Amino acid sequence: MGSNPTRPTTFIQPKDFCLLSTPPNLLSSRPPSAGRIAVLGAGITGLTAAWRLQRAGFAPIVFERSTQLGGAIGAITREGWRHELGPNSLLEGSAEVAALIDDVGLGGRRIYAAPAAKQRYIVRGGRLVAMPGSPWAFIGTSLFSWRAKLALLGEPWRRPSPADAEESVADFVVRRLGREFLDYAINPLVGGVYAGDPMLLSVRQAFPKLHALEQTHGSLLRGTWARRKIRGGPKERIFSFPDGLEDLPFALARPLGAAVRLGHRVLGVARGEEGWRVEFERGGGRGGETFAAVVVALPAGVIAALPVENIPGAERLAALSEIEHPPVVSVFTGYMRAQVRHPLDGFGVLVPQVERRQILGTLFSSTLFPGRAPAGHVALTTFVGGTRDPQLAGLDDPALLRVVQGELASLLGASGAPVFTHVQRWPRAIPQYTLGYQRFKDVVTAVEASAPGFFIGGNCRDGISLANCMEAGRRLADAAAKYVAREGV
Ligand SMILES: Cc1cc2nc3c(=O)[nH]c(=O)nc-3n(C[C@H](O)[C@H](O)[C@H](O)COP(=O)(O)OP(=O)(O)OC[C@H]3O[C@@H](n4cnc5c(N)ncnc54)[C@H](O)[C@@H]3O)c2cc1C
Repeated sequence: MGSNPTRPTTFIQPKDFCLLSTPPNLLSSRPPSAGRIAVLGAGITGLTAAWRLQRAGFAPIVFERSTQLGGAIGAITREGWRHELGPNSLLEGSAEVAALIDDVGLGGRRIYAAPAAKQRYIVRGGRLVAMPGSPWAFIGTSLFSWRAKLALLGEPWRRPSPADAEESVADFVVRRLGREFLDYAINPLVGGVYAGDPMLLSVRQAFPKLHALEQTHGSLLRGTWARRKIRGGPKERIFSFPDGLEDLPFALARPLGAAVRLGHRVLGVARGEEGWRVEFERGGGRGGETFAAVVVALPAGVIAALPVENIPGAERLAALSEIEHPPVVSVFTGYMRAQVRHPLDGFGVLVPQVERRQILGTLFSSTLFPGRAPAGHVALTTFVGGTRDPQLAGLDDPALLRVVQGELASLLGASGAPVFTHVQRWPRAIPQYTLGYQRFKDVVTAVEASAPGFFIGGNCRDGISLANCMEAGRRLADAAAKYVAREGV
């Protein structure tokens, strides 16, 4: 989505669009749409769905508005610097995600985050304090007061809320862990993950695993302990690839070849006698094709505005326009090593709202992964805006850089001007799973139920992380494949 002059366009060139035609239909007794499945959107969700469908023997065609693959995934690479414009890393949280990485041929190319990146910093009293990584470190940390630490001992005895209660992340954390944990652990985390506000997010929607821990074990501490015993310790590791996260959409798209149609903006979808008609625009002209099924992997705002004809109640999808997506700016700054006093021995630093600063946090990008900065230099990626400060995201580039430079000077001892900068804006960055979010999911479920062969998923329904979206791609592919096989369409 970000403009990237150096991003490889590789195997799919614009001329492919003109060469494309409907694949020959060898089974003449079947309609021309037989086995063909339209996938709308070439973000990680859509590409995962298409890749799986092709592996299962179906004929997916991916329609993507942009001339680039990957949706939110993208990078610019210049003069030895690499700015990951959207997501910076992937969490190997499930066997499914790990297997997909292997299956697309990227298994050997994983680069795990440097061991130093285990350390995470939080700002308290204007200084960086390391997040405690063990019970002993927790006892000794200055991040929490003795009162807060002692209060934590009572957590296993606090009653869980009713299973169906709708509670904000903030209320949940204060109830179980206390106010200081909200202010100095969860608030900065929510700023870093959702660019959101824990008072507004629903705990069951935004952090379903946390909610499930309380429901299953009655306590977060007991639940965490039990899970560690089952797994033999946490194994979730953060990784990327040598050329950055872009390697993933490219690996997924490579076997699809010309079936990925870049520069094709979907205008609408209609159910007809022959199947599902997808109308699109490309290079100023319009076109339409018929498919057996449609997988929708588009952003919420696009789904809300998408005309879906001949489906009773499809107009209810317009409600998805109410999902909030606060703006975020990713500000990349490169310094000579000697310009930054802090050792940058960590993943990065998150900023609690109570500290009243102007940034959400900063990733120590060149500590995390190699290839982010030229030798003798360091790269920092700072996020500005979110629900906390949406107006800051509207500043022009020089003003934003001044804000970031000032914060990095004060927090990390970065002196002088950065030697390299790049600004990436996300006007609608991440869907906020706010209180009452279930109503959006219910709308999607109801529309799908009245539209056989029409499937919706992605970060507005299945969770916002890349891993969530890859799992969503599998779910969508399974559902579409099952439908097409069952109906023989
Ligand atoms: C700044 C930022 C940082 C993030 N950091 C992380 C991170 O570190 N780790 C992590 O796991 N997650 C992170 N995320 C979240 C994650 O990147 C996204 O949730 C995920 O990439 C969404 O994938 P998707 O395929 O569902 O949607 P998208 O990536 O939004 O893809 C949707 C696609 O649909 C296309 N499209 C739109 N309209 C049309 C149309 N009319 N016709 C055809 N195509 C259309 C778009 O161009 C786009 O390519 C971050 C997100 C942002 C914005």
